[in-house]
Amino acid sequence: MNKKNILSVKNLEKIYTTKESNTHALNNLNLDVKEGEIFGLLGPNGAGKTTFINILGGTVIKTSGTVNVWGFNLDKNPRQVRASIGIVPQEVNLDPFFSPKKLLELQAGLYGIPKKDRITDTILKLVSLDHKANSYARSLSGGMKRRLLVAKALVHQPPIVFLDEPTAGVDVELRKKLWENVKLLNNRGVTIILTTHYIEEAEKMCDRVGILNKGNLIALDTTKNLLEKIQTKKVKIKTDKNIEIVDNELSSLKLISKSENSINISYEKSKISMEQLIQLIKKKNAIIKDISTDDGDLEDVFLRLTKN
Ligand code: ADP
Repeated sequence: MNKKNILSVKNLEKIYTTKESNTHALNNLNLDVKEGEIFGLLGPNGAGKTTFINILGGTVIKTSGTVNVWGFNLDKNPRQVRASIGIVPQEVNLDPFFSPKKLLELQAGLYGIPKKDRITDTILKLVSLDHKANSYARSLSGGMKRRLLVAKALVHQPPIVFLDEPTAGVDVELRKKLWENVKLLNNRGVTIILTTHYIEEAEKMCDRVGILNKGNLIALDTTKNLLEKIQTKKVKIKTDKNIEIVDNELSSLKLISKSENSINISYEKSKISMEQLIQLIKKKNAIIKDISTDDGDLEDVFLRLTKN
């Protein structure tokens, strides 16, 4: 598991200076991303996510700090840094009169990749657009256009791919398809960094998550560890008859709601075990018909951390 860092960010600062004000978009950011992982950079609007991506892509100049990508220093080797990353932008910016194949060939030309080294067909297959290789881009569906953007970011075979809000405004079906494509890419060894304010996306996709808020990194951990920080468990129990539960009958136990032969309760995982809860119900001479549990999700962590 001791993989090397493919991206290393130290004391990164970005201050936008305008006539009216100074905006501290990134504040002393420290962050490492390991080779082969899917890393999620989460944060509400204005957190600094786009600024971060644009610094790496070379369109925004950092105020201070050090950035190393794939062993290259951003100040000393900006071209190599750019060659090491592929950025999938948020907005669709495709020439509607070119086919996917043509677009990828043009992009490869921009990177100076000789014809014999191009992997256009492989990339088209990877993003499931091989059957559309020669159709006009304008005839592609929204989801296909998004996948074509991913393909465009891959022509120079970068070891790191950034996806900026990959599924913003994309419906559930297409979102799943995009996630599958990204996982596929990751299985081939590409390190993925995605920004999102869509928390379910991070929970489904990311090995580790950093949460940015107003330019500050307020959490950095594995998705699993972040989820374990949520201590409140919610349980719905159906029984063969009505039972009474009072608050704190067991330590931290709370009745949320009650209906015919069914109760909704919550408790702290560290204070009660599921076994104790079942014993309590049995003592009331009720037979348990069904139990469903809800452990909370990354949204709960996110809201708690970004609330103030
Ligand atoms: P996010 O992508 O997380 O929504 P951004 O990186 O776009 O966040 O913005 C971070 C902060 O920097 C915001 O307060 C935003 O208003 C400010 N900002 C972004 N770009 C500029 C700019 N070109 N000039 C001035 N302020 C900017």
